[in-house]
Amino acid sequence: MNVKKRTTPIKLLQTEALLQRLNPPTHPKRPIIEKDLKKRKAGYQGEKTVDYHLSFLTDKKYMIFNDLRLPLAPDYFQIDSLLVTPCYSLPIEIKNIAGTLTIDPEFNQLSQNYKGVETGYPDPIAQATRQKLFLQKWFFNNKLPCPPIEFLVAFSNPATILKMAPGHKRIPPYDKMIHAQNIVSEISKLNTGFTREVTDLKKIKRLLLNQHQPAYPTILSTYQLTEADIIKGVQCERCSHTMIRKIGMWLCTNCSHLSRTAHLKAIEDYFLLIEPTITNQKLRDFLQLSSAKTAAEILKFLKLTRTGSTKGTHYIKNFP
Ligand SMILES: [Zn+2]
Repeated sequence: MNVKKRTTPIKLLQTEALLQRLNPPTHPKRPIIEKDLKKRKAGYQGEKTVDYHLSFLTDKKYMIFNDLRLPLAPDYFQIDSLLVTPCYSLPIEIKNIAGTLTIDPEFNQLSQNYKGVETGYPDPIAQATRQKLFLQKWFFNNKLPCPPIEFLVAFSNPATILKMAPGHKRIPPYDKMIHAQNIVSEISKLNTGFTREVTDLKKIKRLLLNQHQPAYPTILSTYQLTEADIIKGVQCERCSHTMIRKIGMWLCTNCSHLSRTAHLKAIEDYFLLIEPTITNQKLRDFLQLSSAKTAAEILKFLKLTRTGSTKGTHYIKNFP
């Protein structure tokens, strides 16, 4: 049972919005941002591949939580997918890396050979082991009896070749690195090893969902950009040219396209690129709109959470 569904990662949405509004469009950082967008899309695709395999676990005893970000002072930890059963819990780390991957337990590193180019990555087993410890600590901090915690590292690209470095055998914990299509059979194996029901599933579910804190990465600072590197205004849905407000509509001065709703995408871009709250003044500045009354009407229509009053009112966007 999928308890917490996966949505498009905010960082992927932010990267798309950034490319759409990069000023000038030929900005020198564009190639690196485009490369990152490709990587983020592949990562999301990999996560969806794992979701597909996990969707075969239809028994009610399984609870699946995707994209969890849980507090663990002084920071947070993230889990790509967490399977909770009455007998054990299983965090799954998802990797979408193409080519031939060689794992070296001596140096705790993973090297990728893709089209003749060698790239190093941190050992995913070390990463997953750390996550397991974080999860144990999270159970302890929440005064929950800690169930046995196993872990898996799932490689989502079926064409990826997994190898151990010469002289090393695939012994535990390296047997936890698997192809995504083998997830269900690995889970069946675990089911035979853990048969004692130990956990209060209802309480775990409530705490996991309540404590999940969505991330809000600041994408401009990721690329050392500022608001000056962003094109403001409402963009035409047809040609991306900036639109102006005319008789209650948005008019494209390039292709004459008329729209009643083109500002919605612009406001979404503001929340993704600038900050997750907005005021009437900031909305007018971003949409290049002179009327405070129109801005107020737009904000009212959006049904956002409000804090403060009159001029200081902030409207808050909640990301999943
Ligand atoms: Zn246009």
